[in-house]
Amino acid sequence: MENWLKAANEAVPDKVAVKFNSEMITYEALYEEALLLAGKIKTLGEHRMGVFIYNSLDSLKLIHAMIQARVEIVFINTRLTHHEITAQLHDVGVTTIIAAKPLEIEGFEVIDFRDLYEWEPVELEEHPIRGDDVLSIMFTSGTTGRAKAVKQTYSNHYASAKGCETRFGYSVDSVWMQINPIFHISGLSIVLRSVIAQCTNVLVERFEEEKILNLLEDEKVTHTSLVPVMLQRLLKCSNDFGPHLQGILLGGAGVTKKVLKEAIDHDLPVYNSFGMTETCSQIVSVPYSDPNILNGTVGKALENVELKVDGAGELLVKAENVSPGYLNAEMERVDGYFKTGDLARIDEAGYLHILDRRSDLIISGGENIYPKEIEDRVHEVDGVESCVVIKVQDAQWGEAPVLLVQGGPGNEGDILRHLSKTLARYKMPREIHFVDEVIMTSTGKVSRRKNHEQYMKNHQSGTPD
Ligand code: ATP
Ligand code: MG
Repeated sequence: MENWLKAANEAVPDKVAVKFNSEMITYEALYEEALLLAGKIKTLGEHRMGVFIYNSLDSLKLIHAMIQARVEIVFINTRLTHHEITAQLHDVGVTTIIAAKPLEIEGFEVIDFRDLYEWEPVELEEHPIRGDDVLSIMFTSGTTGRAKAVKQTYSNHYASAKGCETRFGYSVDSVWMQINPIFHISGLSIVLRSVIAQCTNVLVERFEEEKILNLLEDEKVTHTSLVPVMLQRLLKCSNDFGPHLQGILLGGAGVTKKVLKEAIDHDLPVYNSFGMTETCSQIVSVPYSDPNILNGTVGKALENVELKVDGAGELLVKAENVSPGYLNAEMERVDGYFKTGDLARIDEAGYLHILDRRSDLIISGGENIYPKEIEDRVHEVDGVESCVVIKVQDAQWGEAPVLLVQGGPGNEGDILRHLSKTLARYKMPREIHFVDEVIMTSTGKVSRRKNHEQYMKNHQSGTPD
């Protein structure tokens, strides 16, 4: 496998690799700095280390240095508590962390990134990179339970970047904007895509509507990736994203038709997509120019991705970008296909439709109910800001759906009318509750688990919503 940063340094040394606030660094300078830091990191003699970093230029230097040092990078979600971080790092046998900010976690050696500069480096030997070497270990979002530690190899990331490049149409002259956190695959994949394509990454520390809209214009951003809530928030501020954008990749969670339609009506070049930490980012996508984008699909398989749906309705995937396994759990596979845990349908034209997670399926009186189908219908009602359908036990039917809605209790009549018009009777929610806020995960997904816990708490203590 090619040393991507070295290749970029040889091909386009003067090109800006990363811009961050008022700082910027060329490929030549980034490569030099990565080599320098790699020599220092090597003195620790560790083959796997944790990184506690935010989106910043230092963080990118650190990632590239760890790649040059061939150290496996364990990404820590900075929003977790120390208790959660400790459990995750124990799961993957890490004892040393490099951190971008002063940090103390009991039981771990924490090195301040800035201190590395003071260290004496050791000589770096030129090691070839093998495709099946592990580049990163990243935890799944933990939406359905305990987060799984996914091994992501160099070939996984490379295949993912190439698949995205072909479908999403960026190249050496493109300017990517990265808002997604580096410790999530949607963020790390942009770091790697940009160095593989040798283009520029405009890195953003955190999501702020005004700032993003200005950067799109000022930095002539051509490609970016957003989780659906970000797009929704940007659209509330403006529907003019400037003349440079060629692609906005949406993923990580389902996007409502309402938001997609609004974006397309304003000529925004949105692509819907679907992917997982285990597949190192997206495996399917569909562009704004394809009218099917509005029929609920997440897209068609990218190059070299094989999809099928098994007899139980579960999506199976075989591709170079599928991880070789977890470090803290068994990965379910069948005939070389990874079992995703998502229930899906592939239509006659080859478009993938995600129905729901296997674990969220509600079986009520022997009938299957997909919470997402109910949520999709509820989103069609004016005034609904967000909603979630959770599964509760039901004495009569075994399981039943309960609907939690954020946005104006006055909508109850409209919601009920719309649902009874569009859903079979057995799918009707057993109860509707209006809540102040539908709880999301730190990666922008509606968390059925947390909303369920909240519902149970309110319900059992008799507290009204
Ligand atoms: P965990 O596996 O720990 O429960 P997670 O599955 O949420 O967490 P991620 O790898 O971050 O962790 O997310 C992948 C999942 O996100 C997919 O399996 C799917 O359920 C959901 N997802 C991603 N993109 C979409 C999309 N476009 N539409 C619907 N669901 C999506
Ligand atoms: Mg998952």
